[in-house]
Amino acid sequence: MAYDPENIFAKILRGKMPAHKVYEDDEVFSFMDIFPQARGHTLVIPKTEAENFFDISTDWAAKLIGKTQVVAKAVRAALEPDGILIAQFNGAAAGQTVFHIHYHIIPRWEGAGLPGHGHTVRADDEELAALAAEIKAKLGGA
Ligand code: 5GP
Repeated sequence: MAYDPENIFAKILRGKMPAHKVYEDDEVFSFMDIFPQARGHTLVIPKTEAENFFDISTDWAAKLIGKTQVVAKAVRAALEPDGILIAQFNGAAAGQTVFHIHYHIIPRWEGAGLPGHGHTVRADDEELAALAAEIKAKLGGA
């Protein structure tokens, strides 16, 4: 499938759709997932057109995972979960629903279940904004 520049994350990158931004630089954009699988569920996307793990260049893949680690450390510092799941889905059969490659950073707490990927409800915007601010603060942002 060819990369569709009208996918929702491409629109977020172009500023055509709103997002609760956590971090941005020349290489990546990071923001809160609006249908979170857990409190603090954060996404990291590269500023290059790639659908998945197989069509992103090795160079960009390295940049993306490196920046995902930076954001994940901030999520961990801000929310102090018991663990953090890093996930990435390739193809609809694997659960991918937005076809611009992204890493999921999903905080986990002992005893708390994980709703199935794609089986969640829209989070409250105020709560997402507050979480984004907490994470941003750990990145040295405002
Ligand atoms: P995938 O299913 O492709 O691995 O992940 C896509 C993720 O994007 C899902 O976790 C879903 O909740 C999230 N998502 C879908 N639409 C939007 C949106 O408009 N804004 C944000 N922030 N997240 C979205």
